[in-house]
Parts: sequence; C-alpha cells; structure tokens
Amino acid sequence: MIIDLRSDTLTKPTAGMRDAMFSAPVGDDVFGEDPMVNALEEKISKLFGMEAGLFCPSGTMTNQIAIRLHTRIQTEIICHKYSHIYLYEGGGIMANSLASVKLLEGDLGKLTAPQIAAAINPDDVHAPETTLVSLENTMNKGGGSIYRLYEIKPIHKLCKAKGLKLHLDGARLFNALIETGENPADWGAQFDTISICLSKGLGCPIGSVLLGSKADIKRARKVRKSFGGGMRQAGFLAAAGIYALDHQVDRLKEDHARARELGKMLLELSMVSEVLPVATNIVIGRLEGISPEDFMSKLAAKNIKSVKFGPDLVRFVTHHDFEDDQLEEFGKRVCDL
Ligand SMILES: *Cc1c(COP(=O)(O)O)cnc(C)c1O
Repeated sequence: MIIDLRSDTLTKPTAGMRDAMFSAPVGDDVFGEDPMVNALEEKISKLFGMEAGLFCPSGTMTNQIAIRLHTRIQTEIICHKYSHIYLYEGGGIMANSLASVKLLEGDLGKLTAPQIAAAINPDDVHAPETTLVSLENTMNKGGGSIYRLYEIKPIHKLCKAKGLKLHLDGARLFNALIETGENPADWGAQFDTISICLSKGLGCPIGSVLLGSKADIKRARKVRKSFGGGMRQAGFLAAAGIYALDHQVDRLKEDHARARELGKMLLELSMVSEVLPVATNIVIGRLEGISPEDFMSKLAAKNIKSVKFGPDLVRFVTHHDFEDDQLEEFGKRVCDL
C-alpha cells in the first residue's frame, strides 16, 4: 500500500460525488446558462454572505483574477513572503497585472495590522501606490496555521481607513472554519474578495470559486475570459463542488485529528528536530542531520510519499483518502527508519 501524503489535491472523487457529476444537468456557462455552475456560485456566495461568486478552473486563477481587479500597473500588493500568490503562481502578479509586491515576515506565515500599516507606501513620487493587502488562511507554508477572526478585524479596519482592498487566498478556508467554528458570513464581511479551492480537502477533481461584490464579479468574469478560463458545460465540475459542500466539509475534522497524530509520530524520530504546530491538515517537520532528499528516499523505500518544503523541511498533508488504517501503517513503517 502506497501512503501518499504529498498533497490534499491527490484525492479522487468519491462514489457519491461521481454520481452527482454524471447526473448533472448542464448548459453553456459562458452564456451564463449552466444550472449547476449558477447554483454553486449562489450557494457558496450566500454561505459567506457575499453578493456573487465565479467558478474557475483553479485557485491560481481565482487569486490572479482578484489581483487584477485590485491593482493597476505600478501599484503594489502587501503580502507575506511565503504567500502562495507570490511563491507558487508562476510570477503571475508581474505577468498578469504588472504590479509590485512588498513581502513581509511574520510568525507561521501570518501578518498583523501594525505590520501592514508600516508597510503602506507614502504618497510619494518614488514609491508604487499600495492598493491591495492579500492574506492566506490556512497558511500553507506556515504549517496550515489559522488566522482567527479577531486577528482579521483590525486588518479589515486598517484597509478601510487607508482605502486598500483586502483579498483572502482561502484555498483551505474551510479547514480553518471547521477547526474554529467561526461563521463563514463573519469572514465574508471582512474581505473584498475571497478565493476558495474545491480541489483540496473538499475532494473535488477541479475547481475554485472567487467571491466578491456583484460589480467585482462582473469584472472578474471578463478577466477570466481573457485568462482563457471561460468554460462551457462546466456543470459536471460544479456538481462535484455542490456535493462537496453538502457532504465533505465536516469530515475535514478527521484530517486534522490524523495530522496531529502524524505530527506526534514524526516528532519521535531522531532525524526530526521539530514539527511546526499542527493546526489543520498540514504537518511540516524540520530535519536534523539528514537532507530532505535523503529523508524522503528513506520514506519512499517504505512506500510513503512526502514533499520537500525548504532546505531542512518536509511536508505531509492529510486528506480524504488517508484513513485510520493508513495512519497506523504510517506509524509502523516510520518507527524503524
Ligand atoms: C493550492 C493552493 C492555491 C491554488 O492552487 P491551484 O492548484 O491553482 O488550484 C492557492 N493558494 C494556496 C494557499 C494553495 O494551497
């Protein structure tokens, strides 16, 4: 049995999800006529108390569309130096929006309002105009760390006062909300736009949704077209999203419980000096006396897959297709590494 913990994107659609996809009524979404896409966009925007939603092929696209909406040429985005929008989107900020970035440091990938306030550029001929703050929840490179609502509110207030837009890369926002019990609508109220992935822990094969005001989503639809992301009978995919929202949100808790156990197992190993606090479904271990490559090949020899996540870091992500029997098996295989 291969235990594949490289990512929560590896999950395959469940039988129930496949049935929902196969039987979906569909239409041409570029004409606005796909009933399942319309239903998904409405369902998720209502849940977050936001006016409208836009279904897209990927979270990279939803983030990049949001960046296009909230910046212009020669403006600047404030984000953490470990942000997905900066590290893992192919240089899209520059390529798609001709914008600059100001990268901040912060514990477990998180930023605070005073830090952001100090990073806003002055109205000065030398400096690009700051127009956007982008946060990530959960924070992938922070070990799946969670922002709490009380941490967001002062940032929201600051952005309002300074006339800045606030975007959330909420690829794994449901992981955060299921853990804290906070209300999605309270989150929707803090942001101009939110991007949510259906293809991570929620277990869909494809898809992300961008949430925002009616006016922003109308513009976003045109940006999506120009990015080549207008899809036709996309209802087959949207049906998977609706199914996931109805049936596969609560179970994220199980992924978190297994991640905590997995973190403890790793910490037992002499080659692992530290495990970042496990808040959700991501476990990042710091290695000592062995390179990530060598550690990963020891694991691979035991049919366990992980990814390198820095010069001395490895990442494991728990997901839908990683169950208790595999967790137990993981423990047995790593104890004599
Ligand atoms: C996965 C992910 C995205 C989007 O990735 P896609 O593969 O393009 O869907 C965005 N932000 C974070 C933090 C992610 O983990």
